[in-house]
Amino acid sequence: MDFLPVFLDLRDHRCLVVGGGEVAERKTGLLLRAGAAVTVIAPQLCQGLRRRVADGAVTHHARRYAEGDLDGCRLAFACTDDRAVNAEVSRAAQARNIPVNVADDPALCSFIMPSIIDRSPIVAAVSTGGASPVLARLIRMRLEQLIPTTLGRLAGFTASFRDQVKARFASGRERKAFWEAVLQGPIAERVLAGQEPAARKMLEQALASSSLAVGGEVYLVGGGPGDPDLLCSRALRLMQQADVVVYDRLVSQAVLDLTRRDAERLYVGKERDRHALPQEEINALLARLAKEGKRVLRLKGGDPFIFGRGGEEIETLMEEGVPFQVVPGITAAAGCAAYAGIPLTHRDYSQACLFVTGHLKDGTADLNWTALAQPHQTVVIYMGLNALPIVCRELQGHGMPAETPIALIEKGTTPEQRVIIGTLADMPERVAGASVRAPTLIIVGEVVRLHERLAWFEPGD
Ligand code: SAH
Repeated sequence: MDFLPVFLDLRDHRCLVVGGGEVAERKTGLLLRAGAAVTVIAPQLCQGLRRRVADGAVTHHARRYAEGDLDGCRLAFACTDDRAVNAEVSRAAQARNIPVNVADDPALCSFIMPSIIDRSPIVAAVSTGGASPVLARLIRMRLEQLIPTTLGRLAGFTASFRDQVKARFASGRERKAFWEAVLQGPIAERVLAGQEPAARKMLEQALASSSLAVGGEVYLVGGGPGDPDLLCSRALRLMQQADVVVYDRLVSQAVLDLTRRDAERLYVGKERDRHALPQEEINALLARLAKEGKRVLRLKGGDPFIFGRGGEEIETLMEEGVPFQVVPGITAAAGCAAYAGIPLTHRDYSQACLFVTGHLKDGTADLNWTALAQPHQTVVIYMGLNALPIVCRELQGHGMPAETPIALIEKGTTPEQRVIIGTLADMPERVAGASVRAPTLIIVGEVVRLHERLAWFEPGD
């Protein structure tokens, strides 16, 4: 190890920043976040630093660095674009044992600045020892994705119960076991999801009862339309901690591969006209698994609340008193439209967008055709492949021009994505000859014309 990582207490301590540019501004910002009393020395300041001075956040001396500036300082940054000045500050600071950092000049530094992930009070710092600041930043980016932004809240929450837990458990071993269970269970999840009052109640209950009988919970997570990169960070985090995964047909293999490797996987898939497990049984299954103490991931394609029956599933959980949370996913309309270069709304062509289901009941699609056939809007049809001929016929029958463009997107956002473009008049025929496979999404409206200009995604194998 070339450098020792430490976390310095700078609160109310005088720190010096020499330089008035953007680098100086960044260092000043960091020092202020750590509560330091910052003095900036520079003949001129960039806009951001001027604002800091105007706000009264920093002291500014509008001149060049001078000998006495380091008096009483805990830490110094030299960030001018004049190496001689930086070297002078560095020499003077090191002569007085004041830690000094010179931006992009390791030879003049007595300490180096890490890349920082700030989830105060939790702070992670990454350093490559000066070897590659870019690499450090990339590592930081990955950590930013992994560490929930609300983790700081969890630390604060934990701190607020420390004394109570200490009083409750005599031995350190018991306390450690208790905290481990809390931090890996539904209580911590509540805090991370911003439901602190509920978490408090649960923790108080756990403290009052003799043991931490933490039950399981359900994460109703939207897995998006297929491309695993479209998952949100909370979805990914929950996917990696769940003990059981309950998923259906629409969830892509690539998304499923991101769930915890040793998690139990239960397929409850639905195929058109062939329900592997009736909805009521899925609802009951989720509640039962959670009651067994498991963290259950109910993984759905797209968004759980858009043609996903997520509402029904959580209704059962509500009734059964099982804790759960819902994580939105990118719905097929948003994903397919983006990847096909078809904006769902557009200033010139479409001021509204309707999501409807084309699922057939008794061979007909019971939709409000008059509403769907209005101009200046986009209609997105989920589950509409079988109904396509009916859709095209009815829309024309209700006044939509036969040449209205329509798109069918097959396996959107995946390497197998295919986009078929036609008009209301010729689409059924085009699709009939194209051996199309589910899932497919239909988009009707003038915006479909933009596909030709805006298509950017070129799927490959
Ligand atoms: N909850 C999901 C929709 C479930 S209904 C969501 O928000 O996306 C199932 C329908 O979604 C399919 O019949 C199809 O119309 C559409 N769909 C889902 N993923 C798709 C994809 N990758 N490409 C095209 N259509 C998709």
